[in-house]
Amino acid sequence: MKWEYIIIHHTGAEEQDTEQVRRYHRSLGWRDIGYNYVIEKSGLVAPGRSLAIPGAHCLAGGMNTRGIGIALIGNLEEHRPTPEQVDALVGLAGGLMLEYQVAVENVLGHREVPGAATVCPGRYLLMDDTRGNLQAHPSPTALQNQNNALPKTISGLWIVQVGAFSTRERAEQYAQKLREQGIEALVMKR
Ligand SMILES: [Zn+2]
Repeated sequence: MKWEYIIIHHTGAEEQDTEQVRRYHRSLGWRDIGYNYVIEKSGLVAPGRSLAIPGAHCLAGGMNTRGIGIALIGNLEEHRPTPEQVDALVGLAGGLMLEYQVAVENVLGHREVPGAATVCPGRYLLMDDTRGNLQAHPSPTALQNQNNALPKTISGLWIVQVGAFSTRERAEQYAQKLREQGIEALVMKR
């Protein structure tokens, strides 16, 4: 799998929690819940299916092996997501964009995937607003663009260095630890 997209869904129903969604998907004979993350009405982000195996949320475009599936609980064709869900979505998708180097234009609502015949994630999940919020969220590309856009009178940038490693793998591991603490970390080679 190479995760290059983030696909946003609604569950289309008013489940109490992620476990209810998981039970339903298993009852269909699936190996696990189809989505990789579920955002409950309280804004709680619950892990779904492991990213180590293909998902089961969007056949169109081969997205089950290319797109990380996030579902908001609720029928968002009928009502708005809760403000807590909207905040959680931006936080989660922003973090995943950073971790998997996903560009903001590759954050799509299920219905925006070419070939997908669905209203998912519902008309009340405003994808343009979501992408706008994510654009405001720092991503590697955004940081890069920002650096490129700096006025020419600034000579050099002050970098906070927190570690130096001889292998990329160890550097990535260290960066991951920082991200888990909510600290943005970029791995660069010198
Ligand atoms: Zn969907």
